[in-house]
Amino acid sequence: MGKIIAIANQKGGVGKTTTAINLAASMAALEYKTLIVDADPQANSTSGLGFNPKEIEFSIYECMVEGINTRDVIIHTDISYLDLLPSHIDLVGAEVEMINLKNREDKMKESLRDVKNDYDFIILDCSPSLGLITINSLTASDSVIIPVQCEYFALEGLGKLLNTIKIIQSRLNTSLEIEGILLTMYDLRVRLSNQVVDEVNAHFQQMVFSTIIPRNIRLSESPSFGVPAIAHDAESKGAISYLNLAREILAKNGMIHSE
Ligand code: ADP
Ligand code: MG
Repeated sequence: MGKIIAIANQKGGVGKTTTAINLAASMAALEYKTLIVDADPQANSTSGLGFNPKEIEFSIYECMVEGINTRDVIIHTDISYLDLLPSHIDLVGAEVEMINLKNREDKMKESLRDVKNDYDFIILDCSPSLGLITINSLTASDSVIIPVQCEYFALEGLGKLLNTIKIIQSRLNTSLEIEGILLTMYDLRVRLSNQVVDEVNAHFQQMVFSTIIPRNIRLSESPSFGVPAIAHDAESKGAISYLNLAREILAKNGMIHSE
């Protein structure tokens, strides 16, 4: 049974999409069958994997709102073991359209139910909001990864996110776990980066992944080539750091990976 992991933080620009694409690609590189679900109307992980969201016929929107079969919407990428459930700007309207639906928090879960067994991992790239789509994503997930950027105000909004997770754990998804807090865009030369690492570790201790994602140009430029960093430059620090994150998650979940 596949493990569903949401990448969430209502703050924009903290590395959610970069983490979703590169963690999913790393799991795929390690030969774990992986689906990336683009749950953001901005469709950055769809375009980052080389698909034009404007040209996509069906998206997660149709699965959630119209009940279209998820298997008919999933796209196989050029990368072995990696599939994509794409997004579309239409998803913006889904929150309002779902208001009157029964079990409106369960639509993502229902959309993924049939395909859960097709994959080892399903990675959800959430939007920068705590709205209904993100609530749907957290309700559908087994665990959540929270990227935190090594920048000013790193911890801003984190209390609110953790509180939302608590509410979801108590009302909608009792088995939701925090997979970990991931420090992103770390710059060795910047003293502030080190301060953030110390501060986050002091606050959250064992919740923080030992893998830290460095600021790396290959990570920021690979979406313009429509590929994950591992396909753009496998030797880059960025690609290697996400591969290490994948290994850390596999070890944590008792899924021993032989080299
Ligand atoms: P979010 O999905 O949380 O809004 P993104 O993953 O889109 O954040 O990242 C925001 C911006 O920062 C993007 O331009 C992305 O390419 C860049 N970025 C993210 N992580 C890194 C990194 N580790 N090194 C360099 N640039 C990064
Ligand atoms: Mg994003």
